[in-house]
Amino acid sequence: AMAEAAMAARVPPDEDGDECLPQYRHLLSPDLLAGQVAFITGGGSGIGFRIAEIFMRHGCRTVIASRNLQRVSEASKKLVAATGQQCLPLSIDVRQPQTIAAAVDEALKEFKRIDILINGAAGNFLCPASALSFNAFKTVIDIDTMGTFNTSKVLFEKYFRDHGGVIVNITATLSYRGQALQVHAGAAKAAIDAMTRHLAVEWGPNIRVNSLAPGPISGTEGFRRLGGKFAEKSDQFSLIPLQRAGNKTEIAHSTLYLASPLSSYVTGTTLVVDGGSWLTSPNSFSALLGIASSSA
Ligand code: NAP
Repeated sequence: AMAEAAMAARVPPDEDGDECLPQYRHLLSPDLLAGQVAFITGGGSGIGFRIAEIFMRHGCRTVIASRNLQRVSEASKKLVAATGQQCLPLSIDVRQPQTIAAAVDEALKEFKRIDILINGAAGNFLCPASALSFNAFKTVIDIDTMGTFNTSKVLFEKYFRDHGGVIVNITATLSYRGQALQVHAGAAKAAIDAMTRHLAVEWGPNIRVNSLAPGPISGTEGFRRLGGKFAEKSDQFSLIPLQRAGNKTEIAHSTLYLASPLSSYVTGTTLVVDGGSWLTSPNSFSALLGIASSSA
């Protein structure tokens, strides 16, 4: 019990919904990202929302961009209220480069600079390959893989080529052991990890490109869909080395490391932030199929 309490004290708290943290204790200097601007796709919800919040709590201004303008606008109000930093909400579809170009133009007009790009936008669902339509596979590749390339290339051309920058791509560990029911997302995220290495090689020395691969993260849409069933079978997490799900604040902290000068000599790599999950989690087809049929 004492070991558990000590462990809990080392885990930063999180809020389940898309709400800001009621209080925050800085582990790093509050001005770590002072004067900088981050462009965060998928920043209106889940992990992307918390990344925006934690960056803003470290002095960063943010642009949060996704398809649903109302979602990012409401998120922006919460983020500004909690942190006192500026946050510009914009509508983009990462599948359409012209919408990204327009948003980046608007962001540069507002802030005059962009230092960090977080590619967080993605779509996912559980589906066996045998039931996956051609179009469903393509849609996930379009949003995740193409979307990451499109956004990175627009940022490169409009700003990073001349000023340098940092890119963090949010990926996943799904492909490492061929996670059942995830051929679409696993393939899409594996391609992004490859892209991370290619772009790191081509775009050095002034641009760093890394991936961050989260494991199961509580308080997210993905976790809500899977979480109920996993929570019922509470021994699911006991198989993970750290014996629990991660939270969004933990992902945001690791992203902060990759986006900040703390990682100034790190490029072309994937930081796995999963409590060791992929090493030991069972690839239980039937358990996952049960989840898939109940959430369909
Ligand atoms: P989420 O809340 O559903 O975030 C996905 C975001 O992407 C949404 O804000 C969505 O906003 C945006 N988006 C989707 N399609 C888009 C498009 N075509 N153009 C622009 N934006 C688009 O999910 P999350 O769980 O926090 O996931 C965040 C990232 O972490 C994803 O890359 C995900 O693959 C990764 N990840 C999550 C977990 C986990 O446990 N949750 C585990 C591993 C990896 P709109 O609907 O407004 O467009």
